Amino acid sequence: MDAPGSVHGIALLRDPLLNKGTAFTEQERDALGLRGLLPAHVQSMEVQAARILVNLRALPTDLERYVALNALHDRNEALFFRVVIDNIDEIQPLIYTPTVGLACQRFGHIFQRPRGLFISANDRGRIAELLNNWTYEAKLIVATDGQRILGLGDLGANGMGIPVGKLSLYSACAGIHPSLCLPVMLDVGTNNEELLNDPYYIGVRQKRLHGAAYDAFIDEFMEAAHDRFPNALIQFEDFASQTAVRLLGQYRDRFCTFNDDIQGTAAVALAGLLSALRVSGGTLTEQTVLFFGAGQAATGIADLVTSALVAQGLTEAEALARLTFFDVNGLVVQGRPDLAGHNMRYARALPPIHDFVTAIRTLKPTAIIGAAGVGIAFTPEVLAAMAEINERPIVFALSNPTSKAECTAQQAYHGTGGRALFACGSPYGPVTLEGKTFVPRQGNNSYIFPGVGLGVIASGARLVTDEMFMAAAHTLAELVSDADIAQGSLYPALPRLREVSAHIAASVAAVAFQRGLASGDAPNDLLAFVSAQMYDPRY
Ligand code: NAD
Repeated sequence: MDAPGSVHGIALLRDPLLNKGTAFTEQERDALGLRGLLPAHVQSMEVQAARILVNLRALPTDLERYVALNALHDRNEALFFRVVIDNIDEIQPLIYTPTVGLACQRFGHIFQRPRGLFISANDRGRIAELLNNWTYEAKLIVATDGQRILGLGDLGANGMGIPVGKLSLYSACAGIHPSLCLPVMLDVGTNNEELLNDPYYIGVRQKRLHGAAYDAFIDEFMEAAHDRFPNALIQFEDFASQTAVRLLGQYRDRFCTFNDDIQGTAAVALAGLLSALRVSGGTLTEQTVLFFGAGQAATGIADLVTSALVAQGLTEAEALARLTFFDVNGLVVQGRPDLAGHNMRYARALPPIHDFVTAIRTLKPTAIIGAAGVGIAFTPEVLAAMAEINERPIVFALSNPTSKAECTAQQAYHGTGGRALFACGSPYGPVTLEGKTFVPRQGNNSYIFPGVGLGVIASGARLVTDEMFMAAAHTLAELVSDADIAQGSLYPALPRLREVSAHIAASVAAVAFQRGLASGDAPNDLLAFVSAQMYDPRY
């Protein structure tokens, strides 16, 4: 990226969007008033990136690597993104899950420099004014209220690590220019006493807004954000389950918005199921799925699978009969007084069951999908039951961070005699069993949301629809190679993420143009159209 003539000298070195550090050339040093402000040797971007990696690998913990990468992000965005893009499988777990979970827990303690907008409960009535303080043009906003950060619960304003990390992935994986990305913390307070008593906590020290006050705050933000950035996609992230479902329902037909925990998770899981069927040989309509957890992630998956089953010819009732949930109080059955609104559609006319193994033996699912945030819930007995019933049991342990995973890859393969078709929410290395090596891949939303975001922004889509997520899931599954499938991988390799995102963006943009949601005329070559818009930092 070339520095515009207006920014010179020290100001240029301190602008992370323009700074190149020791890579400024001799000519640039003369022209831009940098003589003497930099050591004499001009380093190439490649050498700078190599140095960053050497230093990163020498650090003792992942949290320290997270801090070091954040510091780089704050001083030289181009170099940060070069390092992330070229080493995505090594760096993604450091800037996003699982390390970002720990980083959010420690956010106040490791805080160095603010990024994005912090809008607090005290800002009610002046949110539009705050948004004006963000002087860049935003096309992509990721907002959280910090109430359910990963599987870690209410982390209040510390949850800002999530929008920041997520937007880094949007830029790295789908090439959305970092200057167009705006992380937002909707700091409505926290009910986490430990944080309220922590002297280094960064948020407002009050209990969470709730009820009408909360709704008015969110509504003021949505209206103000839409006024200030009319072309921006607003992505909701890590809200508490029922709030997330409610806000999505409230805003999805009014604003260009989606919830990645619900819709992104759904698409990545559906893609995993489609890949698994390439091994087991069945069709989607022949599957029966038992979900462990009945929150926003599991319900979002079920909603999209239902749509996919209906698209394949089943009636809605037939589709729903193939999907069953097991939550903290057992099987989700009709008549249970504790069910939330989003559970009602899936409550089965079955007797109550309180033990997951019994549920498996009774329902005989072809797939179990874990999204409850409860560590090691897929016990050896659970895995053995699945392996008894199915030649190729589908086992997805999607909860994260790693401590919350339903089972590890090792446990999944060993527990099923190597027959599990396995996907996970956390990264695991290859597993060797009886001479065969399995390469499990993360059913991580990062396969989906960057491409969806790019497709929506590139096409200027007014709304984000379920059909776009279905298109994204099919595209992702099609990109899994035969070699991937042969080694048990249900997703493409992470280094292919930019290629994956470009294809997903093209399929999402295609839906936007077909449905009259896009602005302008559809280009002939959608893949070339979206690819041409991808940020690829080099100097
Ligand atoms: P949520 O709070 O909305 O739902 C949690 C569900 O788990 C609830 O239905 C609850 O009843 C159930 N549950 C809790 N304890 C249980 C127990 N002991 N036995 C059975 N069920 C139990 O949470 P969510 O947003 O749906 O997220 C759940 C998990 O999925 C989290 O760990 C999250 O990080 C993970 N997740 C992973 C991905 C991914 O890409 N892999 C995406 C989204 C969410």
